[in-house]
Amino acid sequence: MEGKAIIFSAPSGAGKTTIVNKLLEKFANLKFSISATTRKPRPNESHGKDYYFLDKEDFESRINTGELLEWEEVYEGTFYGTLNKEVERIWSEGNHVVFDVDVKGGLKLKKKFGDQALAVFVKVPSIDILAERLSSRSTESEEALKIRIGKAALEMQEEKNFDQVVVNESLDQAVVEAERIVLNFLAS
Ligand code: 5GP
Repeated sequence: MEGKAIIFSAPSGAGKTTIVNKLLEKFANLKFSISATTRKPRPNESHGKDYYFLDKEDFESRINTGELLEWEEVYEGTFYGTLNKEVERIWSEGNHVVFDVDVKGGLKLKKKFGDQALAVFVKVPSIDILAERLSSRSTESEEALKIRIGKAALEMQEEKNFDQVVVNESLDQAVVEAERIVLNFLAS
């Protein structure tokens, strides 16, 4: 049986991962789609929990064998993609799937799943605030930071193509709003 799909997309640093994690705690029947990536793990991340960390050859061979539902070169030379198997596994266990993907990937998934999916755009109040948040997270080099901020500015223009928008000004309020939206969608 197929379940529903909830897609969270946002410019990097908008807080969507935190919001998604809160939703996973709140709704027992929501499960996270663990993506594949060629990025190196950050110190607090582990393989098979945050991502499947793959080398480039492995990632490319999975593209060729059609194992990915969508994939993007999110940053130059760094690939991210959603595995078909993740969605199948989650649905087969009677749960709904939640995605944390970039804006392009989110729109691709929405196109594939149609009304079965809810696409939510998480937005920061301004680019300046986003830049501040990204640099205080300090997981990236200066160069990587600049690239992320440039990309975020472009991504902010895609808000209109999503089903719902959550503004993350106060994280607590954004979480409450996201919970309300998800609850409504799951009940519909
Ligand atoms: P990070 O490197 O900060 O974990 O993620 C960078 C960006 O890649 C985030 O916007 C994240 O949502 C996105 N991302 C993670 N997994 C996927 C995926 O499977 N597909 C796509 N298109 N983007 C992804």
